[in-house]
Amino acid sequence: SSDLNKLMVLGAGVLGGQIAWHSAYMGKDVVVYDLFDEALGRCRVAHEQYAEIYSADLGASEEELNQTRQRLRYSTDLADAVALADLVIEAVPEIPEVKTEVYRQLAPLLQPKCLIATNSSTLLPSQFAEDTGRPAQYCALHFANLIWSMNIAEVMAHAGTAEATLRAIAAFAIEIGMVPIPIRKPQNGYVLNSLLVPLLGAAQTLVTNGVSTPEMVDRTYMITNRGVALGPFGIMDVIGMKTCYDVLSYWGHQNNDPQTLRNAAYIKEQLIDQGKMGLQTGTGYYQY
Ligand code: NAD
Repeated sequence: SSDLNKLMVLGAGVLGGQIAWHSAYMGKDVVVYDLFDEALGRCRVAHEQYAEIYSADLGASEEELNQTRQRLRYSTDLADAVALADLVIEAVPEIPEVKTEVYRQLAPLLQPKCLIATNSSTLLPSQFAEDTGRPAQYCALHFANLIWSMNIAEVMAHAGTAEATLRAIAAFAIEIGMVPIPIRKPQNGYVLNSLLVPLLGAAQTLVTNGVSTPEMVDRTYMITNRGVALGPFGIMDVIGMKTCYDVLSYWGHQNNDPQTLRNAAYIKEQLIDQGKMGLQTGTGYYQY
């Protein structure tokens, strides 16, 4: 067993909320931490939506859902949230400065044995290992959105990650029902996002440049990939526009890529600025 039973999830957004709820459902004690009360409020609303989904799709009983709720705690006090944690999973925005700052605040508050995993979509753990103050106890554990059904977890080390850390993190992933996918070398985007980010970028470029519409791109993709439930714009709604924007904006600047920056600007102006944040809030490219 992993011996990782007390989890602290850092960041109560789309993915942090899912990781927290799912880990609690699978028997872990979980504290969800966010800077903002409103974010914790949205997370609680999402958790009640997950309760309905777990009941309908996974056959969760009312008792199991109540036990899940009892294993969850919500906090905006970092020291309090992390005091007893065996494991911290970091799911704050995909903005390097934000992650660096959070790791530095966290470092002095952790129990000596506590492990840290980042759920970053496209950044490498080596970028933050020193900020954690415990590089040997740090690696990436990357979940796929809608984790109760897309149950993979990519496990990726940086050069200084201890073998024992990887073993414990992989065991934790299995304990919460994930299929661990080991990544054998540091790779921005692991396997999943090395495939997905270029696909979503190509789709967004078609729309940004006025070649096609979200509906027609998705229709083309779904009809020619028989059996898939979502096209690229449906997937972007699931991801959430905030993270789509953060990723495009960071990599657009990093790679000095004007098309990617235009795609980021399009998402900001046409979606975020109009309150269309994606599936979790009911509207994105589509209405839910
Ligand atoms: P999000 O924008 O939905 O949520 C981020 C949360 O972090 C927000 O609630 C925000 O209030 C909070 N936050 C901001 N600054 C903070 C701080 N200093 N301390 C604590 N909380 C803070 O983002 P998300 O989509 O959940 O993504 C989070 C991480 O997970 C990112 O690294 C992202 O790349 C990764 N990820 C996202 C997806 C996805 O599909 N959305 C999938 C896999 C991994």
